[in-house]
Amino acid sequence: MSMTGDEILDQIEILFPNAECELKHETPFQLLVAVVLSAQTTDASVNRITPNLFAKWPDAPRLMNADLKEVEAVIQSIGLYRSKAKNIIALSKEIVERFNGEVPFSYEDLQSLPGVGRKTANVVRSVAFKEPSFAVDTHVERVSKRLGLAKVDDDPLKVEQKLCRKISRDRWNQGHHDLIFFGRYFCTARKPRCEECPFASFCKKDKLEAYQKELKEKKKAAKEQEAKK
Ligand code: SF4
Repeated sequence: MSMTGDEILDQIEILFPNAECELKHETPFQLLVAVVLSAQTTDASVNRITPNLFAKWPDAPRLMNADLKEVEAVIQSIGLYRSKAKNIIALSKEIVERFNGEVPFSYEDLQSLPGVGRKTANVVRSVAFKEPSFAVDTHVERVSKRLGLAKVDDDPLKVEQKLCRKISRDRWNQGHHDLIFFGRYFCTARKPRCEECPFASFCKKDKLEAYQKELKEKKKAAKEQEAKK
């Protein structure tokens, strides 16, 4: 027996009644910077550096004039800190020069900023502006595929479109946090709590793993073939 998207969220909200954005921020600008910094690193490690970062440079006009080396020194404990430091200074400059100091709202404008992709744009629209949006990060993607809300070979944009189709619009923003909490604290990548899971009867974890294994083998074979040329 499978469940609808809304039924799945109902169950997750029993497990996690208070799922919310875990990145510390006080303004849309600080949220945008925190999400850019969170690429390929955990929210917890971003939260360890942002209090210091935002104490020194709390807004776009101040961060745009920051010294690159100083910003690097403050954020150096997270991965890719050099390119992230460059991006957050550059995006501050663009926000001041092109958007009058305000974080823009549209996908097009948000994604025109350095270091900002669709996921970041969706988080900012959803959390800062309360606009119904479904951000797909690594947890949302994995969990959606395990729960059969998306196919194992869907890319993140396809996953987003399917979630928007299968989940009621008024639940998109909370649903994003629900799926993240479920993925981060219950259905984790390496040690999911399958014995206590309400979705075990229709879970597609094995199918997803078989697909990922096959993909890995194909990539390895292609690499070996390339090396022989
Ligand atoms: S059965 Fe396990 S892998 Fe599947 S959704 Fe539940 S916790 Fe995740």
